[in-house]
Amino acid sequence: MILASQLQAEDAVIRDIVDAGDYYLKVVKKGQTMRILDIEGNQAADTLFYNANDISERYSAIDTVREQGNVYLTAGSVLMTNDCNPLLKIVADTCGRHDTLGGACATESNTVRYELEKKCMHACRDSWLLAIAENEELGMDKSDITHNINFFMNVPITSEGGLSFADGISGAGKYVELEAMMDTIVLISNCPQLNNPCNAYNPTPVEVLVWDQAQSN
Ligand SMILES: [Zn+2]
Repeated sequence: MILASQLQAEDAVIRDIVDAGDYYLKVVKKGQTMRILDIEGNQAADTLFYNANDISERYSAIDTVREQGNVYLTAGSVLMTNDCNPLLKIVADTCGRHDTLGGACATESNTVRYELEKKCMHACRDSWLLAIAENEELGMDKSDITHNINFFMNVPITSEGGLSFADGISGAGKYVELEAMMDTIVLISNCPQLNNPCNAYNPTPVEVLVWDQAQSN
């Protein structure tokens, strides 16, 4: 569902550019609203969320899909934790659909999906592992890297129930906005993938904006 935001960029308290291949790791407080902006279009932002006060509670794709009865994420979707608590709510979305089934790219999956020589290419899982290695105070290890959301990524389900990695439906300037329903650690890998059409073979930066207030819609 397409739903524009009433929030103005100049009122944001945080504005960060995240280059393709980099990670973003910050806490969004309960009641704050976060926007991920696809600056140039057709990018994928592979994102994990954790309860900032107990990282064993984190985003759960299974619980979210079951509770909303739909596999796609968009405005109105409530992102659930593995304890079935609401973590964030998508309060605005000008893209219209986000994936939570396709998983993130990894050097291993790149060799299986594409070619053995892709093993050395940078992947989202590397960015997440670097993030937790550079932020030891979080006490996270690789077992904490679980299922994610691929914002702006298009993985349509076929009539036979299959997953198809398709050309993106996002475009320059499209965004998704989430209101935190608890203090939430946000860990984004701005995907460096060069092998599939989800980012048009051209990884580009995203911007993260945070407001102190809730979206007024
Ligand atoms: Zn990726």
